[in-house]
Parts: sequence; structure tokens; C-alpha cells
Amino acid sequence: MSQSEQSAMFERILQRYEPVIGLEVHTHLKTASKLFSPAPVEYGRDPNHDVHPIDIGLPGVLPVLNERVVDLAIRLGLATHSTVNLRSVFSRKNYFYPDLPKGYQISQYEEPIVSDGWLEIDHSGGATSADAEGARARQRVGITRAHLEEDAGKSVHDSAVAGSDDTRIDLNRAGVPLLEIVSEPDLRSAEAASAYLKTLRQLLRSIEVSDADMEKGQFRCDANVSLRKRGQTEFGVRTEIKNLNSFANVEGAIRAEIIRQSELLDDGIEVVQATMHFDADRGRTSVMRLKENADDYRYFDDPDLIPLLISKDRIEVIRSEMPELPDEKRARFESQYALSSKDAGLLVAQGGVADFFEATAQNCASSKTAFNWIARDLTKELNEQSIEVEASLCKPEDLAALIGLVESGRLTARNARDLLTDLVSGGGDPEALMAERGLEAVSDSSLIEGFVDEVIASNEAAVESVKGGDDKPLNFLMGKVMQATQGKASPGEVRTRLIEKIRGE
Ligand code: ADP
Ligand code: MG
Repeated sequence: MSQSEQSAMFERILQRYEPVIGLEVHTHLKTASKLFSPAPVEYGRDPNHDVHPIDIGLPGVLPVLNERVVDLAIRLGLATHSTVNLRSVFSRKNYFYPDLPKGYQISQYEEPIVSDGWLEIDHSGGATSADAEGARARQRVGITRAHLEEDAGKSVHDSAVAGSDDTRIDLNRAGVPLLEIVSEPDLRSAEAASAYLKTLRQLLRSIEVSDADMEKGQFRCDANVSLRKRGQTEFGVRTEIKNLNSFANVEGAIRAEIIRQSELLDDGIEVVQATMHFDADRGRTSVMRLKENADDYRYFDDPDLIPLLISKDRIEVIRSEMPELPDEKRARFESQYALSSKDAGLLVAQGGVADFFEATAQNCASSKTAFNWIARDLTKELNEQSIEVEASLCKPEDLAALIGLVESGRLTARNARDLLTDLVSGGGDPEALMAERGLEAVSDSSLIEGFVDEVIASNEAAVESVKGGDDKPLNFLMGKVMQATQGKASPGEVRTRLIEKIRGE
């Protein structure tokens, strides 16, 4: 099936059915040590080097809660307008798996640390109905709960790593603190799901709760998907697609699952609640196991841990230390720097770039001009040179100085762009660099006039056409003059002079 046939087919499915999506996100908390043991949390270490007896439940050990984790969970709670529960309880979730040597995972079940919040997202994925398609919409997505739990170890199946066809176990990850953030089934499209994840990841990073690096497995998602007939109020039976580790996979998996379920429903077959696996290469979901329910886990309160009590004072201290949230920053950028919501969002989405913009704008006459230079020229340079904005040798003051030279007519925009390339990689003072390279714009009108006269004298045919009202050869003549001035004249001024001389206007 061609791509357009495929999307037409998908459109037809969406006319009949409305997708309902809820996401569970597991994010690694940014701590030096594990949730209940002093073992370090590190990435890329040799297997089984960061393991403490507590992590593998050796006899006689007792878990000790890492206090830092509580502060980070409170932060996430405040940032998502949630209730931070003054009492929460750790439970044992029992199951057998080779990478879970204790035979249970310590998690929170009936009484999580955070509940009842929301996150606002911005997307174009048809907020609640197909006709919203194409229009960007802000949507509030409910957060059911966020609870603390331990990560499990890792089974390594890769023969290159395991050195044979065996599966080996690496327990470095066992006991790494996770926050599981569960959304309400409020999302209605793959695009909206992806926008929610991006917003959440950005939020986690900006409040320094998690680095949320998907490649390191620090931010993983399970997607719950169901379909209901358009117009129907009750939800359909859902399936849960496990362990999606990129935005593309989340979107691909949700689309594939929508197609699979719609085919079943069209044939009058009921969807069975199940845990699904997404095969990214084939773009298909398949049943991994029929859904276990909570009873299968035999949850009970962990007798080794007392309930977690949080004082209101502690919450207030953390509230007072909260950094500016992405949504707050965006609103501030809109009002303080007169940027559109889209432009402000673009900056805020890139952390370091937003800071760079603020510092530049403070030294620029127009914040909009600063935005344009950063969003267009600086971003392009940074991409081309593969440099992070923080590592660029062009500091905000330098960019502001460069922009100032252009605004005052001393440097053409084109030459400024060339200088920017070198400023990003090598730094320096823009004005000194301009002088050193003899790039200062020719502002001396008599000098420009001399070049204009020369060009007019030696390009008779083009001059005649311009005189006759044809503007096209004007660009050609302008190019000639610019060449003669080595690009140092202001194009606007050259154009004015040419028209003046040729048409006497
Ligand atoms: P489980 O333990 O079965 O994973 P959770 O309560 O942790 O259950 O998570 C349930 C997730 O499924 C939530 O994100 C919720 O929004 C979502 N969900 C619940 N019902 C539906 C449904 N009918 N369709 C799609 N998603 C759903
Ligand atoms: Mg769950």
C-alpha cells in the first residue's frame, strides 16, 4: 500500500472510531544513589558493578529510603498541579522474573506520593474530534498519579554483549529510583500522545527531576489504547503496549494498534485486554501476554518500610525553591519580549537557547531582531558545526554586538552571517573582526555613487530595460555594484541610487 493509500485508510478508521489513549511513563530520578541502597546510579558501567546487597535482597538486609527521591517527587507533584500526599505507602509487587532477584519490586500502589494533577500540551492531532485536525490546540491532560518504585535489572540477550547465545543478567539498574507517572485516558491521537511525552520530558528536565534521556532508558513509556465508536460514551477495552523508547515508536505503535483493533471491531470480534509488543521494523503490534490484573501481583504493604510521611513545611520549602516552569517562561517571554506564542515556545523547548536569547535580547534594541538572529542564523550555525549553544564561543554579548553593527548599517547582514560562523567556532570581538577583515560597510555615498556610475556606463542594455520600466535587470545591476564594493554596501542604498540615476526618480 502506498503512503497516501495508507493515510486515506487511517482517515477512514478515524471517521468510524475514536482512539482513547492513556500513558504510563517511567522516568529515572536524578539521584547519586539508588532508591533504597547506597549503590551509585551510573550509566555505561561494567555489568554488575553498581550492586549493593539491598538491591538483590540478600538475607538480613533492610531498605533505607533515599530522601532526595522524596524531594524530586514533590517537585514533579508541584509542577503538575497535583496533590502531594502527606502520607504514602510502599508496597511489594510480587512477580517472578530473572532480572528481579528479590522476587518482588518495591512500588507504591493504593497510596502513591502524588495524585490528581494535570499537564497542558500543545498539539495539532485533533484534540477531541476529527474536525479539529490541522488546527493547533492547547489541551489539559489529567495526571492520575505518580508513584515511586524501583527499576529492575536488565536481561542482556545481545550475543555480542553476552558473548554467547545465553541471556545474561546485569543488575546495575536494579533499585534505580523511578517515578511512574500515569495519565488519565485523555489523549485522542498518536500526535497528542507524542506531544504529551515531549512536554512531560521537557518539564522533568527543567525542574531537574530527571535527565529523561531516552537512549539511556531513563524515560520509557507504556501506551494504553482503546477504540470506541464515534458518539459512544463508554470506553472500549484497552491494550497496553510496553516499553516504547522513542517518540517515533510511540506514534508508530499507537497507529499500528489503532489499525489492529479497528480490524477486529469491524469483524465483530471483541478486543481482549492484553499486553502488547511493538515491532518497529514491521510496524505491527502483537500480543505478548494476556493482561495480568492487580491480584496476580499479590500486592501488600512492605513490612520493612514504614509509611512515608511528608510535612507541609517540607512541601512549602520545595515550592519556594522551584525554578520557573516551561509554561511560565513561555508566558513571560510573550509579554516581556513581545514574541508570538509559537516563537516563545520554540525557545523554551530548547532550554539553553532560551537563556541565550534572554541575555542577547537584554543587549539588543529589538528583542524580535534578537529572536530572528537566534532562531535562524545562530541555530543554523550551531547545527552545521554540531555545537551546543552552551559550548559556542559566541557569547550573547557578542551576538548582540554583531546585531548592533548590522542595525547601525556598519555591516551588511550577509557579512554578519559570515562573521557569525567564525564567532561560533572561534569567538572574538565582532567589531574588531569586522575591522580586521575590512568588512565595514561603505556608507560613504559618494563612493557608492562612483561604483553605480561605473556599472551604469558599462551595462547599457540592462540600463535601457530598467529605464523602460522593467525591474528584473535591476537585480543584475545591483549585483554588479555589490561586487564592486566587495559586498560592503547596503543593498537598499544601492538599489535606491540605481533607480535614482536611471529613472531620475
Ligand atoms: P495498569 O496497572 O493496568 O497498568 P494503571 O492504572 O497503572 O493500570 O494504568 C492504566 C492506564 O491506562 C492509565 O494511563 C489510563 O489512563 C489508561 N486507560 C485506562 N482505561 C483506558 C481505556 N479504556 N483506553 C485507553 N486507556 C485507558
Ligand atoms: Mg501500570
